[in-house]
Amino acid sequence: MSVTGKNVHYEGIRDGNTGRIPLTRYGAALIAVALASLVRFAASPLFGWEFPFLLFAFAVFFSADFGGKGPGFTATALSIIVVGAAFIQPRSNFIPGHIADAARMALFAVLGVVISLAVNRLKRANRDLLCSAQELEQSNASLQSSERELLQANELLRRSQQSLTYANARLEISNGDLQKFAYSVSHDLQAPIRTIGAFSQLLIQKYEAKLDADGCELLAHIAAAVVRMNALVRDLLEYSKVTHVEADSITATDCNEVLRGVLQDCAASVHETGAQVTADTLPIVQADPKRLAQVFLNLIENGLKYRSAQPPKLHISAKSEDEHWQFSVTDNGIGFDMAHAERIFTAFERLHSTGSSYQGSGIGLSIVKRIVERQGGTVWAVSRQGIGSTFYFTVPSKPEPHPKQLSASSV
Ligand code: ADP
Repeated sequence: MSVTGKNVHYEGIRDGNTGRIPLTRYGAALIAVALASLVRFAASPLFGWEFPFLLFAFAVFFSADFGGKGPGFTATALSIIVVGAAFIQPRSNFIPGHIADAARMALFAVLGVVISLAVNRLKRANRDLLCSAQELEQSNASLQSSERELLQANELLRRSQQSLTYANARLEISNGDLQKFAYSVSHDLQAPIRTIGAFSQLLIQKYEAKLDADGCELLAHIAAAVVRMNALVRDLLEYSKVTHVEADSITATDCNEVLRGVLQDCAASVHETGAQVTADTLPIVQADPKRLAQVFLNLIENGLKYRSAQPPKLHISAKSEDEHWQFSVTDNGIGFDMAHAERIFTAFERLHSTGSSYQGSGIGLSIVKRIVERQGGTVWAVSRQGIGSTFYFTVPSKPEPHPKQLSASSV
């Protein structure tokens, strides 16, 4: 381990190594024993032959403290040799003459080993403590810096949340304005369009005989364009009216009743196309009956409009799923390429252009999507070209507590 904080190096400290080179450590032990010998020799007149190991215990302690347990053992051994040779009777013999001296020698050897080991252990514990304190300090510092970073990130998040809320509020305001604008434009356009329609009809009635074939054809174009424009403005008005579902318009709605009313409304088209419309028994759901009727009407009218060469066959059914009712309207019409399955729910998107025999403004399905989503459901379609299509939509079993307000994506 290597910790460099506060200029402290702990390399090898945990294994009991003091970080000094052996020559210094063992040399210090040698010097300590030599000094102890000199002082003991000088103090001989005071102690005589008593307490021969007294000062050598300090030498062992110093050596162990300075150099570790190796120098401690070395100082112990050197002390025994010196004391045996110089301070125990008979001198210069090393072998003690009395059993008490031999016992002292053995006791000192044990004491020396114990001192060396204990000092070594104590120093290691001390260094371990230092290391842990250092580590603690470092983790504390990194904890503090992560806390600071967290605070900064939190502040950033708070700010972006604030600006998001602000942008959302602005979006809702401009969305509302747009909605009002679309409503008033489509509403106000109706009167002049009706006037143009009426005057072009008058023109045809009064001057048809006076006009040549080209003039009549031009007038017919104008009349047809007026009819298309009228339908477009009417649909646009309808679309702009579906801003949100009023909470009090949500009521227990018998879908069988709703479907019956819708089929009466489009009885003429059903009769004209020779269509066969069948339905399962439908449930009672919590919904806005007027809006639900609009959804059924648009999907059924499309089923009749986008028919193939065969007489149209439409089937309406419903099944209960986890938290909603799933309705479906299936037809045997021309179908469409599934690559456009999402596009068709966008306002003014038509797969069959205005010039084709399928007239329309491209708003019907976007009205359906709006209504279904405002009531907390989803809508999608599955189709095979030349085989037919099925349009699905869901109605929540329990209506949402608050009606969905207009959002940016819905414009
Ligand atoms: P419109 O019918 O006025 O064009 P819609 O929004 O109702 O507008 O439909 C969008 C487009 O989706 C249509 O132009 C048509 O291409 C396609 N479409 C809708 N319903 C059907 C259907 N039942 N079968 C095949 N295509 C369909």
